[in-house]
Amino acid sequence: MNIILFGPPGAGKGTQAEFLVQSRGMVQLSTGDMLRAAIAAGTELGLQAKEIMDAGKLVSDDIMIGMIAERMEADDCRNGVILDGFPRTVAQAQALDAMFGDKQISLDSVIEIRVDENALFARIEKRAAETGGARSDDNAEVLAARLKVYHDNTAPVLPYYEDKGQLVTIDGMQSVEEVNKQIEACLNSVA
Ligand code: AMP
Repeated sequence: MNIILFGPPGAGKGTQAEFLVQSRGMVQLSTGDMLRAAIAAGTELGLQAKEIMDAGKLVSDDIMIGMIAERMEADDCRNGVILDGFPRTVAQAQALDAMFGDKQISLDSVIEIRVDENALFARIEKRAAETGGARSDDNAEVLAARLKVYHDNTAPVLPYYEDKGQLVTIDGMQSVEEVNKQIEACLNSVA
């Protein structure tokens, strides 16, 4: 099974993806984690990406599509993937469709975790405190920029999947356990 977890920064995509990794043995493909790994490794891509990420902007579609295409080649992706943080633009969604079509991979569900945006500032502050500020983009100023990008570039991906009948929306203001339960129920219904 291959799914997309969709939602603004701080919606809980990463947390929910980890639950699914445990319960279903799926592989979590977080493009944000991949970029942070590139930064930590000091690669050319990492150097370019850091500035963009610290400004709360998006890394180019070409780079991101290439990154996911390469990662999807690995054997561990055959058991199913959870895309976390990708696609973030309609162009990325179209490229993903083409890629899955070529590989004859099905996209089983797109799960939107919908949250009240006023709550996101508190959540991101909490994450920054819990991780000792590990993410340089976890602060109110950059979050405001990330939310603007979410509205301008990423939210238009929702109608793209809605039109295809693939979108399921879950209330992300519930407890993490309840959100997990509803995601599991949704995946059980498409399995
Ligand atoms: P995340 O960990 O998903 O919140 O991503 C952190 C940052 O990485 C984002 O604010 C973007 O700068 C960059 N990024 C992650 N995924 C993508 C993507 N699919 N397209 C463009 N930029 C991305």
